[in-house]
Amino acid sequence: MFDKLLIANRGEIALRIQRACREMGIKTVAVHSTADADAMHVRLADEAVCIGPAASKDSYLNIPAILSAAEITGAEAIHPGYGFLSENADFAAMVEEHGFAFVGPSAEHIRMMGDKITAKLTAAKLGIPVVPGSDGEITTVAEAQKCAKEIGYPVLIKASGGGGGRGMKVVERDEDLAEAFSMTRKEALQNFGNAAVYMEKYLGKPRHIELQVIGDSHGNAVHLFERDCSLQRRHQKVLEEAPSPTLTPEERERIGSTVANAMRGMGYRNAGTIEFLYENGEFYFIEMNTRLQVEHPVTEAISGVDLVREQIRVAAGLELSFTQEDLEIHGHAIECRINAEDPETFVPSPGKIKEYHAPGGLGVRVDSGIYTGYSIPPYYDSMIAKLIVHGRDREECMMRLRRALAEYAIGGIKTTIPLHQKLLAQPDIQKGDYDIHWLEKFMGMKK
Ligand code: ADP
Repeated sequence: MFDKLLIANRGEIALRIQRACREMGIKTVAVHSTADADAMHVRLADEAVCIGPAASKDSYLNIPAILSAAEITGAEAIHPGYGFLSENADFAAMVEEHGFAFVGPSAEHIRMMGDKITAKLTAAKLGIPVVPGSDGEITTVAEAQKCAKEIGYPVLIKASGGGGGRGMKVVERDEDLAEAFSMTRKEALQNFGNAAVYMEKYLGKPRHIELQVIGDSHGNAVHLFERDCSLQRRHQKVLEEAPSPTLTPEERERIGSTVANAMRGMGYRNAGTIEFLYENGEFYFIEMNTRLQVEHPVTEAISGVDLVREQIRVAAGLELSFTQEDLEIHGHAIECRINAEDPETFVPSPGKIKEYHAPGGLGVRVDSGIYTGYSIPPYYDSMIAKLIVHGRDREECMMRLRRALAEYAIGGIKTTIPLHQKLLAQPDIQKGDYDIHWLEKFMGMKK
């Protein structure tokens, strides 16, 4: 096992990784920007290295600075967390070329899945059901029109290099296709440095259901059931739960074994998530994320597995510490993403936290790096905490979540806690009856 690990991230996830390391007896190195000198992940690490100024491109995305920090501190492994460099194949390759272990999949797999067109083709080849659409890139308007006619409107034009809910356009009618096509290409080139786009059937009422997988370097791969992440705003997840309120045990078993077999087939190592849209009993692959996800704690809650510990073990060359047969679902878990934002307008609300009290008690977990007196810097993602609640069943989980949200006090800034409280009061949410459009309709953003 490693003696020392560098965490190339910030905020709650840096702390989350640190906790796993501490339990495993691994020393941690925090890296940080000048804006994060007071951050909790820096204060609690065994060692900390400042890697640059506030702007992410000069610090958390600064590959030479991160590799130098690993070199001078004598770290043996680098965990990238999520976001930042976590899905940068060149970074993964460089980490290994410099003799460190990368806590994640091979650079080749990151590259393959980072390009959505290649990802979709690979998934289809491995027997994973995909959304009907073009066979790869579309380069001309004529091709787009032909494809749209075949699959039927509405269609979605998607950037192959897109991510974070950006680089997608819905087209309802043939008249709008030409313009939407050239716009998406232009924006894709600007935002992702890759103009390639493809087309998919736009599904009307799907749920977003994703499967957690993990593999080791000995050819083992398992799935850890699903998460339902249908509650989204601008294609960004707001609340996630596991298991999904709609899947039957048979459906779960079928899709679970399909993805686990596929991962074994490609020799996938470390943690990953296969994202699907689910409609009328059918699963449609949309993408694979080759990293730990924000919402991984709901899976940890229902499976009892520490996913970060497992990631580190696998990166050190050990076998998975469990088999598929060892895994079972215990109860129900829900995660609320708490952002420093106005709960009505979603305008970011950085600033100083004047008062802080986190909820506790049975089945309550808070992953957060904030504390009284901490100033939330304006430079990074606005998610400041995750509240994860576990119960023996969905009803108990929701009761407990309501109680925990009411207990959570964050003073001095605006947060999205009131939004979560409003959501839990909705009969549709209580019944688990929602799709990917539910939240935007609820907020009046959509018809
Ligand atoms: P990103 O990488 O930006 O997260 P995804 O491909 O994972 O992009 O899609 C994000 C979200 O966009 C999905 O969760 C879903 O809400 C919506 N979406 C993507 N593809 C489709 C589709 N074919 N039909 C309807 N909605 C879609």
